[in-house]
Amino acid sequence: MKRTGFLYDPRYLLHDTGPYHPERSERLEAIVKGITDAGLMPHLTKIKARRADQRWIETVHAPEYIHRFEEFSLSGRRTLDCDDNQMSPDTWEAANLAVGGVLEAARMIMTDEIDNAFCAVRPPGHHAERGEAMGFCYFNNVAIAAKYLQMEWKVERVGIVDFDVHHGNGTQHTFEKDASVFYYSIHQHPSFAYPGTGREFELGTEAGYGYTKNSPVLPGQGDETYQRLIQKDLVPAFQTFEPQVIIVSTGFDAHKDDEMADMSLSNDGFSWIMRTLMKMAEQHAKGRLLSVLEGGYCLERLPELAADHVKVLLDA
Ligand SMILES: [Zn+2]
Repeated sequence: MKRTGFLYDPRYLLHDTGPYHPERSERLEAIVKGITDAGLMPHLTKIKARRADQRWIETVHAPEYIHRFEEFSLSGRRTLDCDDNQMSPDTWEAANLAVGGVLEAARMIMTDEIDNAFCAVRPPGHHAERGEAMGFCYFNNVAIAAKYLQMEWKVERVGIVDFDVHHGNGTQHTFEKDASVFYYSIHQHPSFAYPGTGREFELGTEAGYGYTKNSPVLPGQGDETYQRLIQKDLVPAFQTFEPQVIIVSTGFDAHKDDEMADMSLSNDGFSWIMRTLMKMAEQHAKGRLLSVLEGGYCLERLPELAADHVKVLLDA
């Protein structure tokens, strides 16, 4: 069995998006319930959420944006930058604790206290841009973790895999000029898919050309298409790049029962993806894998998807 860390904090529930918003606190409650009911909690190492040092947030986000977010949240404004991004006075604190918790998980992996981790955080992060909140995201947890691993732990090559059904525009833009972070995303595209980026020809720019890779998937596709594209586009790319840590933007919204998009992945399809990522982590990264929650909105499926996810991490 692997030593798997689990990050969760009830303060992540306090980020209140209002009564009709899909990115709601019940998502995390469903995830915790699924892991608990499957009897997996005793096998996990608890990771404590803590506030992130602002200097790490500033490696990805503009100071002006950070201040605006703080001021808007604490003063009780209900949205930041767009109508999707509903918030409350506790959103600022939850977002800081999400980043800080993910950095703590990264630290524990680097000090070999754990092999890998699943971070059940809110708000999610992969749509957040340097100076703009987007798509339910405020701080880009995954991008900040990659910067932290590089600057604090001297990791030279970080591989990011994003299988949320939406393209992680914020993460791609953070690293598109950077040859030391490989960003791979598989997502629904086109056909009205949010956010509209992530086409096949987006491969990075300048020194980062060739270190961004996107596998757009047409609506209605499922396990077979995902397996074929991951084998073709991701596995060989990481064979060459040899990431020293793999960070995963874990979204469960490509599930066939998730109404946020039109993809048809099964529970087994998600487990196959994770087993493949675990194999790559073994091969290139001494097993170091940091999974961070992004989307996934089907409250009926989230408990079993989270339990399956953790089972693969534990190698149980
Ligand atoms: Zn999503």
